[in-house]
Amino acid sequence: MDPLPLAQFLLRCPSVTPEDAGAQKTLAEALEQIGFAVTHLPFGNIKNFYAERPGPGAHLCFAGHTDVVPPGSADNWKHDPFAGVVENAILYGRGACDMKTAIAAFVAAAAATPGRVSLLITGDEEGEAINGTARVLEWMAAEKKIPDFCLVGEPTCQARLGDTIKIGRRGSLSATITVTGRQGHTAYPHRADNPIHRLIPALAEMAAQKLDAGTEWFEPSTLQITTIDVGNPASNVIPATVTAKLNIRFNNAHTEASLTDWLTECLAPHAPGADLKIHCSGEAFLTKPGPETEKLAAAVKKVTGIMPAQTTGGGTSDARFIARYCPVAEFGLVGATMHQTDERVPVDELRNLTVIYQAVIQSFAN
Ligand SMILES: [Zn+2]
Repeated sequence: MDPLPLAQFLLRCPSVTPEDAGAQKTLAEALEQIGFAVTHLPFGNIKNFYAERPGPGAHLCFAGHTDVVPPGSADNWKHDPFAGVVENAILYGRGACDMKTAIAAFVAAAAATPGRVSLLITGDEEGEAINGTARVLEWMAAEKKIPDFCLVGEPTCQARLGDTIKIGRRGSLSATITVTGRQGHTAYPHRADNPIHRLIPALAEMAAQKLDAGTEWFEPSTLQITTIDVGNPASNVIPATVTAKLNIRFNNAHTEASLTDWLTECLAPHAPGADLKIHCSGEAFLTKPGPETEKLAAAVKKVTGIMPAQTTGGGTSDARFIARYCPVAEFGLVGATMHQTDERVPVDELRNLTVIYQAVIQSFAN
């Protein structure tokens, strides 16, 4: 089965999160035609579904999202971002790389290959990710449908199809720190309490701290202060409050709780009573290389001739939710044009991805 027609159908649905625009109906029908049973699982305003087909071997689940990021000004695109145009053997469109094409490749692979296969499809990966993968997994757990291994079809490759598998991701924690002092005249500082003077040494301590030296599969964690806001237009007024924000990309040596404790400790001596608000969009997670990731890597090597690197770089993905339930790894196209104008994929690469996914299904079916 050629993945191209389904990929084009999906690209023609302008499914910018939270819109679905018919994408999941198209996909569910294609799956039903090849013997999948589809359970639609809408949560809030988000469409999701779970599809499964019986077969031999271990339960392999493919996870993906039909939603896409906005195209920006369509005028800047070579072709309409929602037209699914092929020109010179290159398929253009929002989602051509991230990641409607990978879903089409997996469906085409499943059509051609027996195996116990399911799909977890969400429309909320590029958005809040609240009513998507996490909710579907809760349903899957209740229905005893947690797979033996989950393959997420995000674009993971760097330069060539086959060069990279992701076996984990760093966590991301954002903090907003507000220090409140007492406003006053700069000529009479003893009557005021300058919150900037309290915040700066705390921030300096945070920025100077080496969080770790990296772990077996992860680079060192990093902290970046992203803004310090006072909004004080006067040069002779000590302001009453200052707010700073920072973001930490952290490896599996840390957690939301441990980093929150550390930030609190840094603040305590300099700015007791400072307000610290934390938003952790995902903990770090890792699927240690083992039999499942070896099967995946071997399938990639068999088709491409390249032994993929197993890495944990980049931002977060929905794999962070899946990792709580079962081993998970990510493998998909070269990510060079994801979220960009003229997002595209060579049709050959799409077909090669299909062959790789076939090899993966085969190896889990044995
Ligand atoms: Zn994606």
